Amino acid sequence: MPRIVLLGPPGVGKGTQAGPLAKALAVPHLSTGELLRAAVAEGTPLGKEADGYMRAGRLVPDELVLHILTERLERPDARPGFLLDGYPRNRAQAETLARLVPVDIVLYFELPEATLVERLTQRRVCPTCGRLYNLATLPPKVPGRCDVEGSSLVQRSDDAPEAVRTRLRTYREQTEPLLEFYRSTGRLRSIDASGSTTEVGRRIRAAIDRPNP
Ligand code: AMP
Repeated sequence: MPRIVLLGPPGVGKGTQAGPLAKALAVPHLSTGELLRAAVAEGTPLGKEADGYMRAGRLVPDELVLHILTERLERPDARPGFLLDGYPRNRAQAETLARLVPVDIVLYFELPEATLVERLTQRRVCPTCGRLYNLATLPPKVPGRCDVEGSSLVQRSDDAPEAVRTRLRTYREQTEPLLEFYRSTGRLRSIDASGSTTEVGRRIRAAIDRPNP
């Protein structure tokens, strides 16, 4: 089973693709953003500390994220393989990850910045099941309601315009340089993340099936 890292800017569709892909590969989907949001919702000390950074669209300090990630990586289901979404986000995290576990494939999702802003500000999420929607490209069947749960959809607090700008700037400054780091390992595979969810899903499967150069 593969150990895969999903790399790319916020709003590129990593979270949307991760669920079905993890299911198809029979590996768990590990999202540091989701783990942090769960800690915030539970009101744990770590969640309380992370909350302010997340609302502002800034990176949560490395040691907090590492704590929550190692705990998850140590669970038995993540031993044979995983889909890691949202980690690493800077050079120090990439080096830490390399020491923790070997990574087989890094999928890099590419999309123009204007499209990212649009996707993020139009994004809505079901507070009950976490399913993602997009008012323009992936709307719910009944406006404002989750298809599965019927709950009222909400906007993530960090999808507000000001936080979106900060997240994109943080990505460019801290996360994008990881491309070179992973390109040099020969594990990087780029995905054109434009178009429908189905099209992108197909490109991902093709990229995973391609042997390393
Ligand atoms: P995401 O759901 O991946 O967009 O993450 C949401 C927020 O959680 C980010 O904007 C950060 O504040 C925080 N976060 C998630 N993963 C990390 C990480 N690897 N390092 C630092 N902060 C993170």
